[in-house]
Amino acid sequence: MSDQANSQSASSQNGSTRRRVLIVGGVAGGASCAARLRRLDESVEIAMFDRGPYVSFANCGLPYYVGNVISDERKLLVASREMFRDRFNIEVHTDTEVTGVDSGARTITVRDGRTGYSRTESYDALVLSPGAAPIRPPVPGVELPGVFAVRSIPDSRRIRSWIVDRNAKTAVVVGGGFIGLEMAENLIHRELSVAILEKLPQVMPPLDPEMAVPLMEHLAAKGIQLHLGDGLACIEERDGGGLIVVAESGARLPADLVVLAIGVRPEAGLAKEAGLQIGPRGGVVVDAQMRTSDSNIWAVGDVVEVQDVLTGQETVLPLAGPANRQGRVAAESIAGRGTHFRGVQATAVVGVLGLTVASTGASEKGLRRVAVTSFEKVYLHPGHHAGYYPGAHAIHLKLLFSVPDGRILGAQAVGLEGVEKRIDVIATAIQFNGTVHDLAEAELCYAPQFGAAKDPVNLAGMLAENVLNGDMPVADWLELDHADALLVDVREPAEFAGGHIPNAINLPLSQLRSRYVELPTDRDLWLCCAVGQRAYYATRFLNQHGYRSCNLSGGYTTYKALKAAGLAG
Ligand SMILES: Cc1cc2nc3c(=O)[nH]c(=O)nc-3n(C[C@H](O)[C@H](O)[C@H](O)COP(=O)(O)OP(=O)(O)OC[C@H]3O[C@@H](n4cnc5c(N)ncnc54)[C@H](O)[C@@H]3O)c2cc1C
Repeated sequence: MSDQANSQSASSQNGSTRRRVLIVGGVAGGASCAARLRRLDESVEIAMFDRGPYVSFANCGLPYYVGNVISDERKLLVASREMFRDRFNIEVHTDTEVTGVDSGARTITVRDGRTGYSRTESYDALVLSPGAAPIRPPVPGVELPGVFAVRSIPDSRRIRSWIVDRNAKTAVVVGGGFIGLEMAENLIHRELSVAILEKLPQVMPPLDPEMAVPLMEHLAAKGIQLHLGDGLACIEERDGGGLIVVAESGARLPADLVVLAIGVRPEAGLAKEAGLQIGPRGGVVVDAQMRTSDSNIWAVGDVVEVQDVLTGQETVLPLAGPANRQGRVAAESIAGRGTHFRGVQATAVVGVLGLTVASTGASEKGLRRVAVTSFEKVYLHPGHHAGYYPGAHAIHLKLLFSVPDGRILGAQAVGLEGVEKRIDVIATAIQFNGTVHDLAEAELCYAPQFGAAKDPVNLAGMLAENVLNGDMPVADWLELDHADALLVDVREPAEFAGGHIPNAINLPLSQLRSRYVELPTDRDLWLCCAVGQRAYYATRFLNQHGYRSCNLSGGYTTYKALKAAGLAG
């Protein structure tokens, strides 16, 4: 706090002897910071301002309130003004917008939304946690009644009322990210017919395209219409009531209500006005202690740029976990502790109508974007628990790791059960700089109803080890169309007849030992089976008999997803 000595402190300005900490935004980052700071320091004055009517509410629960899964609005309120006052001696000013920051004078201007009056408040330390605002694209019609974004409890309340008052039957969700998907799910719970309009050719942009395919198939099977690779052109009023969402392709989608979920933008206006450094992604630049370019101001949550620990790039990651942890780090810093925020790795999960999709770390497209080439990947499709125990469901899992050291770079998984548990394990391994060898060796829970003696996480690590040590060379699916290798499908003839990669020949694993001499020794052999396991056995056999064979990781199951994503012919 070196600058503090140079100017009059807030405490001396307002006649108090106590150091005064003001917090803008009282939800994930702000409330965490306030509560942690009080636990660390009983001597400071802490005041928190939010322009909305509530602090510390569960924004992540809002879609479920719209869907009536959470029917009692009060359940969304994690902590009240009174609780902050009585339990923590923290002043909370709701309906109070911070309209300006004078970093030189160390004051903020606040406007009381009930009276309309403005006043100034002095600070010794200021924490900005104003979050991120939903993007409203600059196209005609986005301000029409019936077009919503979801950020606050009043937003969700308005959508609920609109559904009931208008007897809404159809909805268009613009944007297929996690908030769009959660909204789609919850509108289905309200028995609306739902269409998703998404500019990219896939939903869930953090996933690699082929990993989004099972999700898209699931959405379609649940009756959600997907309009992919098509942007929003405008929204029109429909004769006789309702709206028409007009896509860039010219498609016209009728809707009784429209939800805009095309992403969020850091609310960095106050920070800009205070002269704080803003990064290329539009977020506030902070150091590892969440301190901004002004040593008396900290910033946390959706408004900041943070380092992606895997790519080393600065990024914005609007998720609740990082916001909460950053709030805590800022509090520790204000209290004089040297705690550091480690950066982010984008661990996220979404559940949609029974399917779970989760990811952590870098995606393949993310690695390629930052020109990382020294990596490999494996695909696998194990059951979420032992196959002999009833009710095993496949987890579609992709693991990315660096070559040759085997450091884990990222993982994505999709399935009906057990998905987030596997991604959380891999996420933790990444945080400890783990390698695929650590995954192979990880000792995890096992009983038949929960996992397998070789858990999917172990299997992913073992497969990756096999790639690294040359036991299982893998061919790159993306080169399938250009390779002059011979494609050999080692499934049984009936499976082969049910569908196979074009130009593949069939030599079942069960006949390989007696017929392998039919295969050419002067050509690369790319082996495929259903999920990669039999092709691995075949690879081991052939390579010990002088052949040059590789496994097409994940087998025909992965091929179908790649083909659906337009990545394989
Ligand atoms: C619908 C929805 C679902 C989500 N689901 C998930 C999920 O499942 N998992 C997950 O990890 N993340 C989820 N998130 C994201 C998560 O909620 C945010 O990343 C997190 O809340 C960010 O915390 P924050 O403190 O930066 O901002 P917020 O929690 O948004 O709080 C910012 C507060 O600051 C107030 N404010 C802004 N400007 C001012 C001002 N000038 N004066 C006074 N007050 C101001 C705002 O009114 C707001 O109340 C979801 C978000 C939404 C909207």
